[in-house]
Amino acid sequence: MMGPEIERLVGLMARLPGLGPRSARRIVLKLMAEREQRLLPLIAALDAACQRVAVCPTCGGLDSEQPCAICADIAREPLICVVESVADQWALERTAVYRGRYHILGGLLSAIAGRGPEELGIDRLLTRLDGSVREVILALPATVDGQATTHYLTERLAACGASVTRLAQGVPVGGSIEILDEGTLALALSARRAAG
Ligand code: ZN
Repeated sequence: MMGPEIERLVGLMARLPGLGPRSARRIVLKLMAEREQRLLPLIAALDAACQRVAVCPTCGGLDSEQPCAICADIAREPLICVVESVADQWALERTAVYRGRYHILGGLLSAIAGRGPEELGIDRLLTRLDGSVREVILALPATVDGQATTHYLTERLAACGASVTRLAQGVPVGGSIEILDEGTLALALSARRAAG
């Protein structure tokens, strides 16, 4: 009924986060109905992002400059906020409270998923702590894996020379950082306390 091209497009869209077959079909129909206004700009934006955006070798963030604009910004405070994902980094940036840099783990320690410290680039984090960093803020989710990762990092960073803090109240147990509203996240960040 749909034709192989449309079927393929719907199939690809339906596998994106937050979308299912129904919303994928609606999006594809909209794109086809409004090629000039929606489909062509989307193709151009996807192509530009694919060509130019890459992972920052320092922090693991995404940008079209290497190192990323945040790592390169000399006005940032000498703090590193450790987060699970780029989505969490963006959530913290939206609070406009935090003016330090980031370290994106790209996941959490997980025995079930077979993810250890090597997969998370924790050695890369340690090499960044060259004495110029005043504080490391562990902004990881209040889940089992998040807490285990926070605990592990607290021990690994004990002798790093920077103070190590973690987010305090405001983060609900079982909650992920990305979905918190800006007010809650800002409160959790400003009320952080010494880790361990
Ligand atoms: Zn960076």
